Amino acid sequence: MINIFQKIFGGEEKKETAPAGPGKVVILATGGTIAGVGESGKATGYEPGAITAEDLIASVPGLDGLAEIEAIQVCNVNSDDITSEIWITLVNTINEMAKDPAVKGFVITHGTDTLEETAYFLNLTVKTDKPVVLTGSMRPSTAISPDGPMNLYESVQVAASDEAVGQGVLVVFSDRIYTARSVMKMSTYQVTAVSAGEMGAVGIIRDTTVNIYESSTRKHTTETEFDVSKLKELPKVCVLYFSVDADPEMLRYAAENSGGIVIAGAGAGEFSKKWMDVIDELEVPVVISSRIDDGIITKDSLLCRNTVAANNLSPQKAAILLRLALTVGADRERLEEMFCRY
Ligand code: ASP
Repeated sequence: MINIFQKIFGGEEKKETAPAGPGKVVILATGGTIAGVGESGKATGYEPGAITAEDLIASVPGLDGLAEIEAIQVCNVNSDDITSEIWITLVNTINEMAKDPAVKGFVITHGTDTLEETAYFLNLTVKTDKPVVLTGSMRPSTAISPDGPMNLYESVQVAASDEAVGQGVLVVFSDRIYTARSVMKMSTYQVTAVSAGEMGAVGIIRDTTVNIYESSTRKHTTETEFDVSKLKELPKVCVLYFSVDADPEMLRYAAENSGGIVIAGAGAGEFSKKWMDVIDELEVPVVISSRIDDGIITKDSLLCRNTVAANNLSPQKAAILLRLALTVGADRERLEEMFCRY
């Protein structure tokens, strides 16, 4: 289609997005239950990350009709064994391959335990507008009714779609589309476990249609200041969970052994007076999130003045933003700004 710019100046619009048509979708397989194998028909007691990307793709009829598929086995692990080193490999691979005009988008198959963390990390670090979609499954490939094949099929649909261009990293699960920032695992067993609490889904996939209704207003992908391409791993931070009688010495240990702390506080990010006294003395950045899934922590609700509110990021996502903030040497003021921007 000729746009107004070409019409007036006769030049070509410079856009990095892939040409129209199915194009190529790159599947980056990392393991998880979607690649899990166990006793036939059973939903528990299986080995995650047991089948290869090729086997996974072969189990989904019609996938090659959606796009040309290229499969890359990045690793094959339970997602609790994902590391920041693997994250950096993923982001560098995506950033490099996105330069190929034939590539329309990316799908990452991943275990559901830490899928939301990988999604949010990539959302802050990939430098492309092309769709990057994560998916997984709650049942292994050998269960009676595995959910992996449908989730993978729908993810390729979204990755090959024009609707998903420029939307930041997305997660597809059980016919729904979520933003990387809002998505979380909310059940240990349901096939709809990966969802987004009060923030909800941003789209629905139904047969051949990909429908995205809302976009994230938080900065992502090409609009962030983070470049991890030269790093081997991310700086370490500790996430500490407050509960009745929780030992405040944990805070001192964490401050001595990491670059920053995220607290999963009770309610609106609260903790005991004993914790307050120790936190007041700490010199590493301390970010306050909550052990409650829904809701927000604001500056006004902070118990200690030297801390930073995580806004509505979960402790595990706040930890990713804090780790990235440490890579650019952010001070407290800049940290506060980042927790409002991303
Ligand atoms: N433990 C698995 C994993 O995260 C769970 C899953 O994939 O659903 O790798």
